[in-house]
Amino acid sequence: MNRERSIQLYDTAKGVIPGGVNSPARSWAAVGGNPLFLTRGTGSRVWDADGNEYIDYVCSWGPLILGHANERVVAAITQAASEGTSFGAPTERENEIAQFVADAYESIDMVRFVNSGTEATMSALRLARAYTGRSKIVKFEGGYHGHSDALLVAAGSGALAHGVPDSAGVTESFAQDTLLSKFNDLASVDAHFTSFPDDIACVIVEPIAGNMGVVPPQDGFLQGLRDLTTKHGALLVFDEVITGFRVEYGGAQQRYGINADITCLGKIIGGGMPVGAYGGSAEVMATVAPLGAMYQAGTLSGNPVAMAAGIATLKQLQEPGVYNALGAKAASLAAGLQEVFADAEVPLRINRVGSMMTLFFNTEEVTGWESVSASDREGFGRFFHNMLEEGVYLPPSPFEAMFVSTAHTDDDIQTTLESARRALA
Ligand SMILES: *Cc1c(COP(=O)(O)O)cnc(C)c1O
Repeated sequence: MNRERSIQLYDTAKGVIPGGVNSPARSWAAVGGNPLFLTRGTGSRVWDADGNEYIDYVCSWGPLILGHANERVVAAITQAASEGTSFGAPTERENEIAQFVADAYESIDMVRFVNSGTEATMSALRLARAYTGRSKIVKFEGGYHGHSDALLVAAGSGALAHGVPDSAGVTESFAQDTLLSKFNDLASVDAHFTSFPDDIACVIVEPIAGNMGVVPPQDGFLQGLRDLTTKHGALLVFDEVITGFRVEYGGAQQRYGINADITCLGKIIGGGMPVGAYGGSAEVMATVAPLGAMYQAGTLSGNPVAMAAGIATLKQLQEPGVYNALGAKAASLAAGLQEVFADAEVPLRINRVGSMMTLFFNTEEVTGWESVSASDREGFGRFFHNMLEEGVYLPPSPFEAMFVSTAHTDDDIQTTLESARRALA
């Protein structure tokens, strides 16, 4: 496979963009090699700058649950753009998508739209602190919630892959108010409440961890968080930036029957455009300006083109059977891969919830940060590159989720399995 043009473009990029990329995971630091420059995508397929075609399981890291260039999403974007790309004034589309979100989540009466998942989680923390009048937050090792200061502590894939558990430029005072717990370990959360009974504003969690690879919550974990936060007057913040509208229409909260106090959304609700959102009960959201004293704003927030893409995406996800079909497709991919790896006698643990999954090159069950870290990174790297040669584009890191979209066909899955068989051989 010729990748000359990608190599040239990356060289040029490195002169004008730090590391040649606008988000570190795109640099392939975790797997080595030259990142592909992509030029085009339709459905389950993408093409690189040299014209090579790939089955894509990155799907823009989650947003593209309908695949690339979905016809109805593109039509909605085109229509909205032709009517004006930004007003900085309220528009009707914002009402429509806010209503969709409130209908999807029992725990959400009101929702504020922002421009990224990072903004959503950053604002959710400010809201939790404003509402409770407390300063500390609890997060989990390996939990990634975007790149705001308070949340860049033990933050998962990027940090793990780069061997930087923290970021330079995050001051100690920020880190001090961020308490770390272990995912799937309630005792590690309870301990913080014992030490700081009146100081914890919220516990923020990816209800299905997706940024240290997919790690599902064990039975009772989310309910335990719900009980602990309620007992101590803290808020429970679910970061559903990946899982919202991914694992069910109503996200992890629908899947596990647990309601959060504040929900963070992003990725899918933007239909491939830059969008985030945070929402909760009318009472909690009354703290947000202009209703309340917690300030948060955005020039391009609720952008009409982005809202149109989100609406067109959610409408298609409302059709009956979408999530069952997605889950079934992902299940057959996972079962097939498990078989291919077993035949090749390569240890593999697949963690999957619905259409999100991670292939852990691991002999043990993967339940949290420690077992994640025990994975064979080099083995994954070799598999990644061999799959690429076969025309299958996996996430370029052993600690990321791969995504199946509604556009992936049974043929795509069969092709992927045959590719995997050759890639291991
Ligand atoms: C991607 C992600 C974010 C950050 O969203 P951005 O749009 O990249 O800022 C936050 N939380 C989770 C769980 C994510 O996966």
